[in-house]
Amino acid sequence: MIYADNAATTKMSSAAIQTMTSLLNETWGNPSSLYLHGQKAKEVLEKAREDVASLIGASPREIIFTSGGSEADNQAIRSAATIGKKNGKTHIISSAFEHHAVLHTLEALKKEGFEVTLLNVHENGLVVPAEVEAAIREDTCLVTIMYANNEIGTIQPIREIGEICRRKGVLFHTDAVQAIGHVPVNVEEECIDLLSASAHKFHGPKGVGFLYAKKGIRLTNLIEGGAQERGKRAGTENVPGIAAMATALKEAVAEMGQNAAHLTKMRDRLIAGLSEIPHSALNGDPVRRLPGNVNFCFEGIEGESLLLLLDDKGIAASSGSACTSGSLDPSHVLLAIGRVHDVAHGSLRLSIGEDITEQEADYIIRSVSEVVEYLRGFSPVWRDLMAGKKPFIL
Ligand SMILES: *Cc1c(COP(=O)(O)O)cnc(C)c1O
Repeated sequence: MIYADNAATTKMSSAAIQTMTSLLNETWGNPSSLYLHGQKAKEVLEKAREDVASLIGASPREIIFTSGGSEADNQAIRSAATIGKKNGKTHIISSAFEHHAVLHTLEALKKEGFEVTLLNVHENGLVVPAEVEAAIREDTCLVTIMYANNEIGTIQPIREIGEICRRKGVLFHTDAVQAIGHVPVNVEEECIDLLSASAHKFHGPKGVGFLYAKKGIRLTNLIEGGAQERGKRAGTENVPGIAAMATALKEAVAEMGQNAAHLTKMRDRLIAGLSEIPHSALNGDPVRRLPGNVNFCFEGIEGESLLLLLDDKGIAASSGSACTSGSLDPSHVLLAIGRVHDVAHGSLRLSIGEDITEQEADYIIRSVSEVVEYLRGFSPVWRDLMAGKKPFIL
């Protein structure tokens, strides 16, 4: 099988599995216990915190371990909203194509009296920093813009946005789940106040992630209970998962340059090959995108049928995010960059892994071309387009 759905989840690295199993076997104590066995677990936990912090330019006290990216997004946004409300500021700025962990939290806050401005991400899938600046008001308490989009892979001008927010005195959160471990991220240099990350997107285990919160930002608890994580996230820590996450992140950062170079080459080979298919279009900026992300629309077909036939050919891909696949609505991300419903339905996301070969990339290109042609062969929409009853959009 060629696994090309790394934006949905990644396979754990051997080193991360090794860390996790050895801890499950040997260091299973509760880090809050005072005897040696507990304290050993505590040491592992704090070492992981130091490692994770140093890899993103933070200090260990600024890292809270969570159950993943969704929890970190929820806690970051809730915290900024609570701080804002206390100061009479109830306006939040975000973008139209955020992950649902962000968008649904914002929807909930709207019901609690917050006002939300969703910025345009334009045809290329990028937020314009000047538009962030123009949207900031006296009562803005938070700007939350994702680092890299999970469907079309576009990388936002985070440093520029961070600098604007810092200058204006507005908190800046970024959902960096797709970026961490794949492109360089430094919270200090990029003026990031709050950041979310998830281990299973960089070859760590599922169900574990972290929230970075700049020193001095008071976090709101989502989970009340014991005093773990400086009292900001109750519950006995997932020590093996957290340590495996730190192992995976260290590895990903150490190999980032080499991996990104190979992935970019394979990505651009795929983009060039798939662009040859008539009436197709790349979604998102061709350059300012994640090294491993390819996202296309093919006119006249259904993305779901495309996926099933690719599965038969041994290729695991996606038509959008894992969370929306299974629903019949077209992706909110593709609609946000201006794709019309009909076109957005015929989408394909390939998020390739570091081990992909040139032969595999070529096999994907051949397979997609064949399947698209086959599906168009009995698509009523395609027949109408060919008969001139409807104009081609792509
Ligand atoms: C996967 C993902 C999340 C959710 O992370 P989980 O750890 O699965 O909760 C949030 N944001 C983005 C951009 C993602 O890709």
